[in-house]
Amino acid sequence: MNKSILKSPLSLLLLKKILLVSGCLTIILTCFQLALSYGERKQEMEQFLRDIERVHGQPISRAVFELDASGVELIATGIQSYDFISYVSVTGLGKKPTDKIEVGHPIRKGGELAFLSPELSGFFGGFSVEHTFDLNYGFDNNDAKVGEVKLVTSDALLLNELKNDAFIILVSQAFKTLIVSAFLLSVFYSLIVSRIISIHKWLLNYSPDEEFLPVEFGRKKLLHDEIEELKNGVNSVGESLRKHNIELESIVEQRTEALITRTEELEEAKAELEHLAYTDSLTSVANRLAFFKQAEREIKRARRLSYDIGIMMLDLDYFKKINDTYGHEAGDEVLIKAAEALKNCLRENDCIGRIGGEEFAIIVSGAEKSGMHNLASRLRKSIQTLKFSFLGNEQNITISIGYTVVNVGESFKVSLKRADKHLYSAKENGRNCFVTDKNYVVNIA
Ligand code: GH3
Ligand code: MG
Ligand code: MG
Repeated sequence: MNKSILKSPLSLLLLKKILLVSGCLTIILTCFQLALSYGERKQEMEQFLRDIERVHGQPISRAVFELDASGVELIATGIQSYDFISYVSVTGLGKKPTDKIEVGHPIRKGGELAFLSPELSGFFGGFSVEHTFDLNYGFDNNDAKVGEVKLVTSDALLLNELKNDAFIILVSQAFKTLIVSAFLLSVFYSLIVSRIISIHKWLLNYSPDEEFLPVEFGRKKLLHDEIEELKNGVNSVGESLRKHNIELESIVEQRTEALITRTEELEEAKAELEHLAYTDSLTSVANRLAFFKQAEREIKRARRLSYDIGIMMLDLDYFKKINDTYGHEAGDEVLIKAAEALKNCLRENDCIGRIGGEEFAIIVSGAEKSGMHNLASRLRKSIQTLKFSFLGNEQNITISIGYTVVNVGESFKVSLKRADKHLYSAKENGRNCFVTDKNYVVNIA
């Protein structure tokens, strides 16, 4: 038998039930068979006793009739010698008057003649059989009862035979139970338990994320039973789960893609908003808010890396007149072109912002005297050389500049105020020029 059968709790449970039921049945059947056997054996014994009567009846009747004690004894001893006979008694009625015979065992009581087997005192239980028959003898077909014979069989004989029968029945029943149990268990294991184990193992290893492989029993012959239906059910649930999982994955993928697109759109919108929030819509340079933020950042960076920062304030000269003379749109065109021109004069690290109507400010990284001077000069010239159709070749726009450097420990606002003061001075000085700190450099173009 397969070892794994004995490890299967279901198989062991079935084995226990089989042993219990077959044990009870064995006891009941054994009792029943023993009862039958007892009946048969008893009939056999009775038949033997009747055979004894048939064979020995006539001779012993004659011996009793003739009061032949030794004859009686001889025949009785002969009967006694059968294995299965345990007791013999012969009783004569003493009908014949010539009762002169002397006997050993047979005893004579008056006219009677009797033979008692020495085992009379033995135990006669339910396993011995008794048979009593009359002894008849006479002349001219005129038989008369002359005595009586009583035979008792040995109870040990029948008992032993019954014991043997019981042993054979029990052994054969046990052997039969063993064979049937082993056969039932192996059929039960291969048809039910092994297939349930296959389904269980499959379920343990199942994952809807992996390629779907159905439950297989590895049996060549396909059975159409409940376990097969269970397997088909498990397979169909497993396949549906796999399909469902694939659909879910695809939905999640689509939604993730949509989310990414949405996030990108949001990022773009955010960047656009930031751009709008920090950019001057007319000139596309930094607006006042952005410029001040950038200026603070740049000052911190310059302090960290120990380089100078210069601040410039710039204001278009007589700009109001442009608006008043050529219209607001002309004024806007001037602002756009002026901003572009100023921007083109700057390095990548410099930062320009429109901080008022026609007012610009610039942060110059790594400022030093001649550099600042040259830059202010270039800025002024770039504005002066701008051409506008409404002004013709004769007229041009000018700009006034005031600049300074941010001193150590000084706030940006204080530096800006000083640059603004220099701008005011430049205006005072007739415009189209730049002014800076006295101890730095003052140049009027
Ligand atoms: P100054 O030389 O002293 O600076 O004189 P100014 O005329 O340039 O200065 P003022 O402050 O008197 O005039 C500035 C003008 O700029 C007033 C305003 O109408 C105009 N302005 C401000 N913002 C804009 C704008 O966005 N577009 C246009 N077209 N004009 C603007
Ligand atoms: Mg102004
Ligand atoms: Mg102005």
